[in-house]
Amino acid sequence: MSQHIKLFIPGPIEVSEKTLRAYATPMIGHRSKDFQALYADIHPGLQRLFFTKQPVFVSTSSAWGVMEGALRNLVSKKVLNCMNGAFSDKWFDVAKKCGKQAEALQVEWGQPILPEQIDAKLKTGEFDAVTLIHNETSTGTMSPLADIAEVLKKYPDVMFIVDCVSSFTAMPIEFDKLGIDVLLAGTQKAMAMPSGCALFTVSEKAFAKAATIKDRGYYFDFIEFRKNQENNMTPTTPSIGHFYALKSKIEDFETEGLENRYARHKANALLTREWALGNGFELFPAKGYESLSLTCVKNVKNIDVPKLNAALKSKYYCVIDGGYGKIKGTTFRISHMGDESTENIRQLLGWIDDCLKSI
Ligand SMILES: *Cc1c(COP(=O)(O)O)cnc(C)c1O
Repeated sequence: MSQHIKLFIPGPIEVSEKTLRAYATPMIGHRSKDFQALYADIHPGLQRLFFTKQPVFVSTSSAWGVMEGALRNLVSKKVLNCMNGAFSDKWFDVAKKCGKQAEALQVEWGQPILPEQIDAKLKTGEFDAVTLIHNETSTGTMSPLADIAEVLKKYPDVMFIVDCVSSFTAMPIEFDKLGIDVLLAGTQKAMAMPSGCALFTVSEKAFAKAATIKDRGYYFDFIEFRKNQENNMTPTTPSIGHFYALKSKIEDFETEGLENRYARHKANALLTREWALGNGFELFPAKGYESLSLTCVKNVKNIDVPKLNAALKSKYYCVIDGGYGKIKGTTFRISHMGDESTENIRQLLGWIDDCLKSI
């Protein structure tokens, strides 16, 4: 096998040998008692990660499947799409492609979505759903989820759909307490698992709303997911390897302790920001809204990022990310989420310093 290149890009990220071994467990039938026992075994752990008593679903689609599914299950009037980067901007397009009435709440890339901006829109009474990306991975910007959740509490008929794909398990996101209606995450980001799987949970209010929507489809039908989960099953044949990987990963999270995991993500983020600022770069996100799972650096020194990455790859067998969407080239992104220790991140930053000397 050729030399493995370690990924410091914001997803997919590095997956441990232990997780990969679990993922490669031989197949069992998805309608077997063994599968039911496996799902039943991991379910309480999944609920602890989401801070919820609601059922947690495993959709072995990528995150976008559930992002589209949430719109199909819950929007009957009009959705407000909060937009501040590539992923959140695309969610608006997806809403229109699903034939939904949709309105953009667009702010500049790198700016957070603020609670008062949402409040002003919801006051009109035009909307029955809001989509929010908690951690906009393209710009490394985190919006103030708890403050936004407070605003949504004034509008109980508006479904609050939150993508925490790249912040899930990097910090606590308390589903029940925040009153979120759909919270979804992808496994290939901070969970440090293989790609192609999404986790999500749904409020009682959202199940009730979904039941009123006739054309919510089949593959992502929340009611189907719930009926099956009651028997520890999934609507269709899932990627069974992901269930074994989840079991292994939940063990790891509980061995480390979630609080320690959150603290480690914060320490990695602070170290990377300090490195960027100390080396004459600037941070792309607005001050105070920097992501805890990745750092998006404004390339004000105009370094040749493809050249840097080529050097990192050949000398240290790793890569960072050269920017995403319309800010590719003018930014670069360093992922410090997942299983990376602060020592690993310190070492990576040293490698970048070394390569910057020679390019
Ligand atoms: C990666 C990412 C997605 C897309 O995930 P897929 O697994 O490719 O569908 C969506 N939202 C955010 C915030 C992401 O970081």
